[in-house]
Amino acid sequence: MGKLALLRTLHVLKSRYSNQPHEGTDSRITASNRRQRSLNNERICRAIKQEGCPVCRLCSAGLESGWFWFFSESYAEGSGVNKYIDHWGFCNEHTKMIAKIGPKWQKSVIYSWIISSHLPNLERLQRTHLKFVQARNAIARRAARRSVDKVVLEIVPTGDCLFCESSLHAAQRHIAELLEALNDVEIRRLYENSDGLCMRHFFEAIGNLDSRHSAHLIGIIRDLRHLRDNFEEFFRKEDYRYCDEPKGDEQTTWIRSMSKFLGRNAHSDR
Ligand SMILES: [Zn+2]
Ligand SMILES: [Zn+2]
Repeated sequence: MGKLALLRTLHVLKSRYSNQPHEGTDSRITASNRRQRSLNNERICRAIKQEGCPVCRLCSAGLESGWFWFFSESYAEGSGVNKYIDHWGFCNEHTKMIAKIGPKWQKSVIYSWIISSHLPNLERLQRTHLKFVQARNAIARRAARRSVDKVVLEIVPTGDCLFCESSLHAAQRHIAELLEALNDVEIRRLYENSDGLCMRHFFEAIGNLDSRHSAHLIGIIRDLRHLRDNFEEFFRKEDYRYCDEPKGDEQTTWIRSMSKFLGRNAHSDR
């Protein structure tokens, strides 16, 4: 039997076999789902136990391994290349990160491609703009203006930062895993005593909350009430009648508020 015929036969046998109800398959799938769920829960527990928002933690851990793949392969792959060229690179935060961690050769490739792709359009804009400036009458000026606007549209950054976009998808996945994990009583208890979600991830989670997820609302209301009370104390001590009272934690409420919004210590570099 030729190689092709053999492969075809194997393929037919495989598809027949996979269509047969097979004793034990369901239980194996269930066991594998259970194993996967328990691994997810362990990962989520580790993130909850750390300082700050667990989803921010999981996203930044994912981003660290994402950098490796980006600088190994994806930096030169089609859709990713188009994205960073169309966006003129990355957002400020991710540009700073790339400047710190990326290898020199790959960074040179990325930025040389961005510049070479946009330079012809900028040169075209310069020529079109010159025509606008030199237009002799209103009709010519209007026509030149339209050409300038058209070229400008081709130049301005479009789309999102590649890493912001993938972080958003990762966050949605981690939020779904977290909500699933909160069905476990132990994890729920752990979460209720943790820093909880940052405001950004709370807003992303809020659409998917059901009756089992009241921990999110309880946690966020508790934290914001605490911050509000601390601010009241801060402003009270700013009043000339009480300004001689000893200063305390209320003086740093603004840092804790910003950290709650940011998902990590607002004073830390990480
Ligand atoms: Zn967060
Ligand atoms: Zn970004």
